[in-house]
Amino acid sequence: MSTQPHHNYIAGEWVAGASVSRNQNPSDLGDLVGEYAQADQAQADQAIAAARAAAPAWAGFGVQARADLLERVGVELLARRDELGQLLSREEGKTLPEGVGEVVRAGNIFKFFAGEVLRRTGDLVASVRPGVDVEVTREPMGVVGIIAPWNFPIAIPAWKIAPALAYGNAVVFKPADLCPGSSWALAKIIADAGVPAGAFNLVMGRGSVVGEALVNDRRVDAISFTGSVETGQRIAAKAIARMAKIQMEMGGKNPLVVLDDADLKVAVECAVNGAFFSTGQRCTASSRLIVTAGIHDRFVAALTERLKGLTIDHALKAGTHIGPVVDQSQLNQDLKYIELAKSEGGHLAYGGNLLKRDTEGFYLEPALFTQTTAAMRINQEEVFGPVASVILARDYDEALHLANDTPFGLSSGICTTSLKFASHYRRNAQAGMVMVNLPTAGVDYHVPFGGRKGSSYGPREQGRYAAEFFTTVKTSYIGA
Ligand code: NAP
Repeated sequence: MSTQPHHNYIAGEWVAGASVSRNQNPSDLGDLVGEYAQADQAQADQAIAAARAAAPAWAGFGVQARADLLERVGVELLARRDELGQLLSREEGKTLPEGVGEVVRAGNIFKFFAGEVLRRTGDLVASVRPGVDVEVTREPMGVVGIIAPWNFPIAIPAWKIAPALAYGNAVVFKPADLCPGSSWALAKIIADAGVPAGAFNLVMGRGSVVGEALVNDRRVDAISFTGSVETGQRIAAKAIARMAKIQMEMGGKNPLVVLDDADLKVAVECAVNGAFFSTGQRCTASSRLIVTAGIHDRFVAALTERLKGLTIDHALKAGTHIGPVVDQSQLNQDLKYIELAKSEGGHLAYGGNLLKRDTEGFYLEPALFTQTTAAMRINQEEVFGPVASVILARDYDEALHLANDTPFGLSSGICTTSLKFASHYRRNAQAGMVMVNLPTAGVDYHVPFGGRKGSSYGPREQGRYAAEFFTTVKTSYIGA
């Protein structure tokens, strides 16, 4: 069965969709990355049925064979890092080193979970009743629906699919419509690695069709979603109404606090990387730079100088620091927030202009606002672009208060040379992840990832904590 042009993968077969979508390169609008299948409701239904049918056999699949399969996927991803990194950067617009780095991350995730297959343990506990043993074990959830965003089109699918399969679940995977190419390549690798028919299914298409089908179908036991708060809230309400297990990773408005005693160079690098790399299109981006009075002016001056030296250009060009915005709709959102910040009284200290390059693309100069306050919408709502604002704080106490003054709670950073403030911040930052003298973005693949408040809902992703979501606990009582 042909896999071209980029069909869906259902019940072990590559099948054409009801229609196709065109995947466009945001660095060069004349470059068509490819055409990808769009499923309708009936095809989503077939994938769910296939996963349901395959789930029992996959749950009982030998652990050695399952570990070997995940290992093969990881090895293949790592071996093809350059080719797949290029595809990723071409469809999403992050720079080539960022694209290759994301593929490496995906490969390492599969290798990590290959090991986890063999490390699954339970507890044997003495009962309070004489002669009875109690065994606590973990079992797969059954069928897991995976709904992913466009900004990490291979790493996020990997960190959901790998644990789902490792812990014995059948998967129906719906990638983001905007960047399906990397997700399709990952699905092809999983299929070629020999996953049994139906245990893994790829269904590309609209969230309102395929996503909804997964969320509403009682045959799907659990939904792992990453995306915006708005979509997440809608999905959560529907999934909970039918008692599905959910894991929601959503937006951020992550603070980077810079204290008077910070190493200025470290603080500027953390801000540039955290706020602007990957075009600011990261849920962990440091969009709020909270700076104390004694370093404020020096920090703004040094950061502005650093921004002037950045190259914004085609994602695949050597030397590009920041690629284009992903599409016209995201660009419109970024420009809307730049205008809004101005109208709220923020001072545009640098950037914010559209840029022309050799190829037509969505090029936007990074924008830095100063003289902003916590109450402004620019500091409360996620922009998801290369836009950051500076908030002046009197001292550490006010900086901590401002850092926590947000409906989100994903990642929170501080730059300081004081052990006292670093320790206090680590304990009191209301976020799932805290960074000291590091960018708020950029996390390891083998430890928990997730946030608090409006950023996350449900068990953590990644590392051994992934078992909380992808398994259900059984307590067995064994009498004599
Ligand atoms: P999005 O618009 O919420 O879409 C996310 C996914 O949900 C897409 O696959 C989308 O399908 C699907 N979807 C849309 N409507 C749906 C519905 N009614 N039912 C089921 N599924 C539906 O988010 P995005 O623009 O792709 O991604 C950007 C957002 O993701 C940002 O807010 C960012 O902060 C967040 N994010 C969070 C994390 C984290 O771990 N916390 C990581 C990365 C990104 P389509 O293909 O049709 O769009």
